[in-house]
Amino acid sequence: MPELPEVETIVTGLKPNLEGKLIHDVQVFNKRTITNPKDIEGFVATIKKTTINEVTRKGKYIDIILDNKMHLIIHLRMTGQLIYSNKEMDFTHLRAMFKLDNGLLYFNDIRKFGTISLLHQDELLLEKGYHTLGVEPLSNEFSDCYLKEKIKGTRPVKNFILDQTVIAGLGNIYADECLFLANINPKRPVNTLDDMEITLLVDAIKEVLSKAIENRGTTFSDYKDSYGGKGENQNFLKVYGRGKEDCFKCGKKLSSDKIGGRTTVFCLDCQK
Ligand SMILES: [Zn+2]
Repeated sequence: MPELPEVETIVTGLKPNLEGKLIHDVQVFNKRTITNPKDIEGFVATIKKTTINEVTRKGKYIDIILDNKMHLIIHLRMTGQLIYSNKEMDFTHLRAMFKLDNGLLYFNDIRKFGTISLLHQDELLLEKGYHTLGVEPLSNEFSDCYLKEKIKGTRPVKNFILDQTVIAGLGNIYADECLFLANINPKRPVNTLDDMEITLLVDAIKEVLSKAIENRGTTFSDYKDSYGGKGENQNFLKVYGRGKEDCFKCGKKLSSDKIGGRTTVFCLDCQK
C-alpha cells in the first residue's frame, strides 16, 4: 500500500502538471470507485469545466482542490495508481480518467479498493478517517512532547505508531523500519517507552520517511509514481520483507511475527 513517502512523491509529480489546469471532462469506469456522491452524473457535472487550484497531501490522502471550493479526496489503498500523461495510454484496470487541457490523469486500480470522494470544503468531515488524522510526522508539530501526550495504555508500540489518528501516513513498511532504526521492539507496550526512547523514535520516523521520499518511495509490486515510474527505496530497506534473513546490525536472524494482524520483521537482539 502506498504510504506517506509514495503519496508525497505522487503529489510532487502531479503539482506542475495539474495546478492551474482546466478539467474538460471526466469518465468513470467503475462506479464504486466514487464514494461520494453516489450520483455519478452529478459527480461529473460538478467537476467539468473547473480549474485545479492546488494538489496537496494529508497522511496517505491526495487532495485535489478545485476552484469551485470542491475537493477530490483520493485514497489509493492497496493498488491504486494516479498517473499523468500528455499522451493516451492503455491501462488494464482503469477506474476513472480526467481530461485536462494539457493531458490526461488516469486512476488505475487492480484491486478496486481505491476511492475518489468529491466533497465541498465545508463537508470534509464526511470523509471517514480524513478529518481525524494525527499530525504530519515531517512537520515541526511532530515532536517528543506530542508523542508523550498521545501515549496511553499498553498496546504494542507498532500498533501505536500505525494509528493514523496519532501519526498521519505511516504504514507497515516504514513502521518496521523506524522501530529497527530506534532499536525498539515492536511488541513493547507503548507506555513502557522512556524519554530517551521516545526521542529516538521521533528522530527515526523523521529520518526513515525523509530518506524514502528522497528515494521516490518503495516499489514492491504495484506502486508507481505520477509518471508511471518505480521508486528506489526497496533497495535500502533494513527489515521489511527480510524475515529470516541476517540483521544488518548484529548478523543474527531477523524474526517475523504478526502484530495487530500485520506481518512485522524485527531483530530480537538489537530491538529491546
Ligand atoms: Zn540485530
